[in-house]
Amino acid sequence: MTTIKNNIETIKRQIAQACQKSGRITPSNSSELIPSSPVLLLAVSKTKPATLIEQAYLAGQHDFGENYLQEAVDKIAILAHLPELTWHFIGPIQSNKTKQIASNFAWVHSVDREKIALRLNQHLQDDNDNNTPLNICLQVNISNEASKSGVNVEDVFSLAKIVDNCDKLTLRGLMAVPEKNAPKACYEQMQQLFIELKQQYPSVDTLSLGMSDDLDIAVAHGSTMVRIGTAIFGARANKI
Ligand SMILES: *Cc1c(COP(=O)(O)O)cnc(C)c1O
Repeated sequence: MTTIKNNIETIKRQIAQACQKSGRITPSNSSELIPSSPVLLLAVSKTKPATLIEQAYLAGQHDFGENYLQEAVDKIAILAHLPELTWHFIGPIQSNKTKQIASNFAWVHSVDREKIALRLNQHLQDDNDNNTPLNICLQVNISNEASKSGVNVEDVFSLAKIVDNCDKLTLRGLMAVPEKNAPKACYEQMQQLFIELKQQYPSVDTLSLGMSDDLDIAVAHGSTMVRIGTAIFGARANKI
């Protein structure tokens, strides 16, 4: 078994255990090794070559997250022959990159301002070949760090309304990158925001929260999608 396949199975087991511990699934008495989970695993493949992504794909992993547009577009082209690959853009968005993001990705987790939402929508309206709506999560600046991207908590609902009004965008939920060792209150606040947003918009079903180091606390607070890089592909060369 490859290391990557091993790592994916280990992470899936960890997710299942975190779900059980927080009462999100009941312990199964079947022989199923990895119970089906309410939490989707997004494999974050930034800085990693297409060959490793293909290994993960062969291990059954279909959802991949990328942060850097040019690098991602190159790998998406290399791997275009693999069916059912779903690409998620999770990095900071410059407004001059929205066209390529709209045409290459099925999901964008890092929408944090009106301008970006409107531009993504406009590109899809202009592109008659593309009729699938783009799945959108709003990135929330939950740790309130001036340097981090993300919409402020008090502006989440007005941005949600803007995205919901865009006919080519589907509002799926919220994303956050809490600072290292963030207090539990951060996770509680994300969970609360997600619950409130879900009550307002039936399309909302995704809380994109949790990375290699905070998977357990994120799942305990209702995460529906964890974004895991290091624990699947190993450490990244230049700590990004
Ligand atoms: C890099 C990155 C991840 C993955 O982080 P790991 O600690 O390697 O699991 C998840 N989400 C975002 C937004 C990232 O930039």
